[in-house]
Amino acid sequence: DPAIRLNLRLIPYSEELWLLVARDVTKLMRLEEVRRDFVANVSHELRTPLTVVHGYLDLLEPEDKPEWAPLLDEMRRQSQRMTQLVEDLLTLSRLEAQDEIADDQVSMAPMLATLKREAEALSQGRHHVTVESALDADLRGSTRELHSAFSNLVSNAVRYTPAGGDIAIRYAPTPDGGAALSVRDTGYGIPASHLPRITERFYRVSTSRSRELGGTGLGLSIVKHVLSLHQARLAIESEVGAGSTFTCVFGPERVLRRAEAASA
Ligand code: ADP
Repeated sequence: DPAIRLNLRLIPYSEELWLLVARDVTKLMRLEEVRRDFVANVSHELRTPLTVVHGYLDLLEPEDKPEWAPLLDEMRRQSQRMTQLVEDLLTLSRLEAQDEIADDQVSMAPMLATLKREAEALSQGRHHVTVESALDADLRGSTRELHSAFSNLVSNAVRYTPAGGDIAIRYAPTPDGGAALSVRDTGYGIPASHLPRITERFYRVSTSRSRELGGTGLGLSIVKHVLSLHQARLAIESEVGAGSTFTCVFGPERVLRRAEAASA
């Protein structure tokens, strides 16, 4: 029956024998699909009312009620946060529904320039931002999704680094002929005990700090999904009080050398 989904595992048993374990995951996958559609639909339905609330809030500036100003500011901030949350949920749903990714030539020189600009705009002069490219090759994949992943890492680096810190974006070759894009900061760092769960949806080290700094808790989930669609992985190194480095590691098959690019 083609509708039945099996999860197969082959386990060595003895010198000559292997165990084949088959688990019926049809129901589990169906449930996962229902959950995914539900989240996507709810997010989509929330978009329009939020746009209306957001739009009207921007128009409100009662001159005879100056004491309302801070309340209105807070309402604007919160509705902005909600909008970001809905957008991030929609992005995640879109990523989860894909099992293939675009095969663009992702031009890395403009990508790095854009990331630098974004970091500087977010930082507003509070951090020292550097970009280094040690690899003259592009990537193969989705320009849009990779930009969203890299941008999330840059935004985290800025938000979780106090003023005066450094943010370093680096694109470099890996020993196996692949490529790595890393974002290093000198910020708060992440305790080792949190690292295994850090890419889970809504997982945060410190809820109060993240909330204050305006995150949705979905950024790293998005990064993980985008990378997995590119058969790439996320490596995280971090030390509390010293900073963190998030590295996106791409295999050689994702690297487009200049010569290949020219003949393609
Ligand atoms: P958020 O929207 O809360 O930033 P993310 O999924 O992007 O959500 O990150 C999850 C959590 O990981 C954050 O709440 C924060 O605690 C931690 N984190 C992410 N990036 C960094 C970083 N560069 N430095 C320190 N902590 C980080």
